[in-house]
Amino acid sequence: MSSKFNQPLGGNQMPRFGGMATMMRLPSQPNAAGLDACFVGVPMDIGTSNRSGTRHGPRQIRAESCMLRPYNMATGASPFDDLQVADIGDVAINTFDLKKSVGIISDHYDGILLHDCVPLTLGGDHTLTYPILQAMKKKHGPVALVHVDAHADINDEMFGEKIAHGTPFRRAVEEGLLICDKVYQIGLRGTGYSSDDFDWSRNQGFNVIQAEECWYKSLSPLMERVRKNIGDAPVYISFDIDSLDPAFAPGTGTVEIGGLTIWQGLEIIRGGAGLNIVGCDLVEVSPPYDPSGNTALVGANLLYEMLCVLPGVSRN
Ligand code: MN
Ligand code: MN
Repeated sequence: MSSKFNQPLGGNQMPRFGGMATMMRLPSQPNAAGLDACFVGVPMDIGTSNRSGTRHGPRQIRAESCMLRPYNMATGASPFDDLQVADIGDVAINTFDLKKSVGIISDHYDGILLHDCVPLTLGGDHTLTYPILQAMKKKHGPVALVHVDAHADINDEMFGEKIAHGTPFRRAVEEGLLICDKVYQIGLRGTGYSSDDFDWSRNQGFNVIQAEECWYKSLSPLMERVRKNIGDAPVYISFDIDSLDPAFAPGTGTVEIGGLTIWQGLEIIRGGAGLNIVGCDLVEVSPPYDPSGNTALVGANLLYEMLCVLPGVSRN
């Protein structure tokens, strides 16, 4: 079947283990011109506080995406029939300077948004969400946020530094990048420094759903509430792979037990259908701790699921 839109290279055209290692074996191009959505990598780990390696995340997610086929058998979405999508490569961060890298990322996303293109970001450590949200504000104003993570990432500083992978959402609030009562932090858990570690979030008006509130449950009812509250506000989805239990996603830097299941992660993303999604990221995949490639595989699939719920994608 011929289409006016880019299609992933099929398994009968080139063996799945061959060809260029772009996301989903899509065509690549150097910028977002003419695209409705793009996959873009931010190969960065200089904001991490424990195990490093997420600089290799984008490349490994692309490699593990080679099995992905275009049609979503569960939801009926067929994103490549509705949207023009390509892989636009990686952001050339300065791996010796985190603060400069934040500026580089923000500028790069300004350029993507200039083309009215929705970026789907392959991380990279979670620091990268902060400069992306800066660019989002310039384009859309403050955004609603679905933040799936084991951690709240709302530290004021880490080791005396304001920029790190544990601080992006504190900086985002300070700069007015978020519609605070339309922020959902889902999957938070683990050990803390004190009992009020998540209260800063709650005090900003964030909706905090700790992992224990998710255990043994479908998260579809939660997402119904999320959709109702967010309404037609622009919304950004930031998915930290460590939100999932390490049984499913061990290849990450700051691991917490007792996390979400794969199917809960799918329910969260699929439950975003109908929202005015303006950008998404999948962060914290660390290939050196992912010898089977399974964590990157999960990340690749979740990014595809994000593509499937973007505005303009129909379900048949
Ligand atoms: Mn995080
Ligand atoms: Mn995390």
